[in-house]
Amino acid sequence: MTRRRWIAEHWDEATATLAGAQAEHMTRVLRTQPGMEADVVAGGHVFHAVVAAVTPGEVRFNLIAELDADPALPVTLVLAVYKFDRMEWAIEKATELGVAAVAPVLARRTEKHLAQTAEKRAERWRRIAHESAQQSRRSDVPIIFDPVPLAAHVRAASEATRIVLAEQERTTTLRHALDEAMAAAESEMPRLEIAIGPEGGWAAEEEALFDANGWRATSLGPRILRAETAAIAALAIVASYLE
Ligand code: SAH
Repeated sequence: MTRRRWIAEHWDEATATLAGAQAEHMTRVLRTQPGMEADVVAGGHVFHAVVAAVTPGEVRFNLIAELDADPALPVTLVLAVYKFDRMEWAIEKATELGVAAVAPVLARRTEKHLAQTAEKRAERWRRIAHESAQQSRRSDVPIIFDPVPLAAHVRAASEATRIVLAEQERTTTLRHALDEAMAAAESEMPRLEIAIGPEGGWAAEEEALFDANGWRATSLGPRILRAETAAIAALAIVASYLE
């Protein structure tokens, strides 16, 4: 039987606690009592646990044994900020597919009012990632970075293999770029960063900026995909390559 996983807010070596909406759900809806068993995620590790105490707004567990965790895909999705409803959908699905982190960036064609409110919105993105991680029984929650201007992210130093999805690219497919990254890394898969443009696509100077900073332009095929479709397709390709 698969048990639901609870992602703890606080933990130490032997105990973990849930607060807020999760605790509320456990106590009010599931009528959790001391002695009940559950799987609890604490600090990226999954534990078999027993409820030790229930108080309004808090559930405390004793951690009994660590279970095998499933690692995230070693991918940071660099997502240009665009229509919030679609972006939220992309974050939810990317979490289901195992993304390790999402880095929202403000691109030239990110609408002004979205760029101005993106920072506030990041909290909601974190909540979506948290809920989606729990729903898909992940043992960790993807990191959602604060939004930054594209140039700051593109220029920042990184150990990752850096890939930019660009619909103008015709020759290098994502699969091909993964083959190369794998060959260069010999046995272990390197970390990847995969950048996806906003609805209007990357501006020419942004493509030049990626190029000048060592990002590899890759294609997902001859059809133009919406940004959220591109995100999901890219992660599915990486997953089929690695898992
Ligand atoms: N400029 C396009 C739409 C951009 S699609 C237009 O309006 O016609 C949004 C983003 O999805 C792009 O910036 C790119 O990162 C990604 N994307 C979409 N289709 C793609 C493809 N076939 N190959 C690679 N990337 C793609």
